[in-house]
Amino acid sequence: MRIIVQKFGGTSVASAEGRERALTKIIKAKEEGFSVVVVVSAMGRNGDPYATDTLINLVKTIDVSVNSREMDLLISCGEIISTVMMAQTLEKAGHPAVALSGGQAGILTDQNFGEAQIIGVDPKNILRRLGEGNIVIVAGFQGMTADGDITTLGRGGSDTTAATLGSALEAEVVEIYTDVDGVMTVDPRIVPEAKILRNLTYQEVCEMANNGAKVVHPRAVAIARDKKVPVKVKSTFTEDSGTLICDGQSDRVITGIAFQAGIGRVLVKAKNGHLGPEDSVKIFKVLAGAGISVDMNSISPGQISFVVKQEALGKVGDLLLPEGYEVELLPHCAKIALIGVGMQDVLGIMARVVETLHKHNIKLFQTVDSEITISCLVLEDQMNQAIKVLYNEFGL
Ligand code: ADP
Ligand code: ASP
Ligand code: MG
Repeated sequence: MRIIVQKFGGTSVASAEGRERALTKIIKAKEEGFSVVVVVSAMGRNGDPYATDTLINLVKTIDVSVNSREMDLLISCGEIISTVMMAQTLEKAGHPAVALSGGQAGILTDQNFGEAQIIGVDPKNILRRLGEGNIVIVAGFQGMTADGDITTLGRGGSDTTAATLGSALEAEVVEIYTDVDGVMTVDPRIVPEAKILRNLTYQEVCEMANNGAKVVHPRAVAIARDKKVPVKVKSTFTEDSGTLICDGQSDRVITGIAFQAGIGRVLVKAKNGHLGPEDSVKIFKVLAGAGISVDMNSISPGQISFVVKQEALGKVGDLLLPEGYEVELLPHCAKIALIGVGMQDVLGIMARVVETLHKHNIKLFQTVDSEITISCLVLEDQMNQAIKVLYNEFGL
């Protein structure tokens, strides 16, 4: 059996027109001889009746904190509604289709509600339905625990469902259909003239996704990479051939730029001027104990700096001030990452980054780099400008 997995994101399945577009992609794959597994997201974006954010906001109208188990049960409905709408669209066009929840599709997860990890897949139900000649529509973003509780996989998790099923079913390809033509050098919402990247390695896309390029979920890319399942990112709304992600070598100096807003910076100094290794250990242990994840860590004699999610900034102050440290908190920052496997062999990239930002009066608060990424912390207000000037500087 030649299997293809096609995933359609929220904007793709939001309207009857979008579902008709999706239908043409599904039928084409079927006519090419594939057994088709379709993964769908919840319909639309915040404000649309069955979108994930709408459901979250709905329950928040009851003014009490929501148990994460109940929250997952609620938001899993968005994807389930979407499977039935898609299955009925196919049935109407004369193509037998079956809708399955994540649990019915055999996706087993741990009990970490809201961010559950997939611990196993039993594809026998999907395979039986495919064998009977159906197109199988699976609700993305969800699974089921061994106890039968419904879980969700973290925001953007329908991509993870698609990659997981692609890998478990040994699919020939996983196609991620969305509202852009493919993976671009930078988010086209910030730089409309951004160019499409036709071929990318898993490593390049993982790095872009981990640094905030939400066009595909980083976990999905990692799962596909482990089983070497090729992934195509394409538009539901055009005939563009999209981006092919597979194994291979890249020598691009800068592949693209990714970014994350909503970040707060923390600078810790000792009140008496001394801040030693024992302080670093203590500070990072206190933060880890409070479940706060840190990034862009920099330790130098007398001071430590790092970034956290904006919403954790207040808590960091509450934890560290009583310990006697001098703490400076800078809210509303953004991290911009330039990603390129080839940059490790080229001198002068850092100098160009710093010079470009400086030339445009963009204040740089901190940088970190790895062999394939240079990340810069700037103010959120200057983020778009910083992305554009770096985009131009590197001719992306
Ligand atoms: P879906 O609902 O289809 O999963 P998402 O909103 O999760 O869609 O992802 C698609 C969006 O990702 C695009 O609309 C685009 O704005 C954004 N995006 C961010 N970085 C990139 C990039 N490098 N290339 C293409 N799109 C990007
Ligand atoms: N509907 C979920 C979300 O909005 C999952 C997804 O779209 O991938 O995060
Ligand atoms: Mg997405």
